[in-house]
Amino acid sequence: MRTQYILPALVLPLLLAACAGGTLRIDDSHPAAVQASRVQHLVLHYTVADFEESLDILTGHERGVSAHYLVRNDPVRIYRLVPEERMARHAGESYWNGATALNASSIGIEIVNPGWVDTPDGRVYAPFPQAQVDAVITLVRDIVARHDIAPSRVLGHADIAPGRKQDPGPMFPWKQLADAGLVPWPDPRQLAQRLADSRVQPVPDIDWFQQRLAAVGYRVPNSGELDAPTRDVISTFQMKYRPADIAGEPDAETAALLDVVSTPGGMRVADRQLP
Ligand SMILES: [Zn+2]
Repeated sequence: MRTQYILPALVLPLLLAACAGGTLRIDDSHPAAVQASRVQHLVLHYTVADFEESLDILTGHERGVSAHYLVRNDPVRIYRLVPEERMARHAGESYWNGATALNASSIGIEIVNPGWVDTPDGRVYAPFPQAQVDAVITLVRDIVARHDIAPSRVLGHADIAPGRKQDPGPMFPWKQLADAGLVPWPDPRQLAQRLADSRVQPVPDIDWFQQRLAAVGYRVPNSGELDAPTRDVISTFQMKYRPADIAGEPDAETAALLDVVSTPGGMRVADRQLP
């Protein structure tokens, strides 16, 4: 007798689940014209670790971090660690041009690179092998095309977290991404003119630097002072556009670059090369 009552208790939830699955019908025949990928930003990192350690950190639970892609250096190979439609934890507290918490709106690419070594002569950053850069460019080109990510939203981790992060650092060849049409770059003619002007004009005050850096997209204080966070943002800007000197000094050359980068029409996007 007892089994007659137990059996329906086990079967009933299964029947209900099957029923619910069967009744959900969605008609996809009227797609809206106004829609876009949820992916709005692409963020590049370096791992400050060799491949095995990078893989350990980015695939395990321990550090609570991950990225969508890991680009190995030797041999060069692209690993997908998180599907693009899911969120990875690579950005942390972050800001760009009004957007915050960029994990939710970005794809993250980690590039295997040791980062830097501190020597008696200062910090020395590690170069990226060309084959690895080529792989990154190919991957970025594919992602930005599929998600329609604007070149101005292809960023380094440092751009969205200046001071807290330096990656992908001053050795990362942003100019090669610019030549591939993946990031905007200062117009060389306008830059030459501004550099010539800067030899006869005084360097602008800190207020000017802060306003222009904010206009580019950085989170920067509005203090009018060359405080530590402002130096961090200037240094981050220099890492990308003037990597030979990243001390964070608001010098004449940085002012000329920033003037072009922040002036409408000052940036150029090269024709995107086909793979
Ligand atoms: Zn990073």
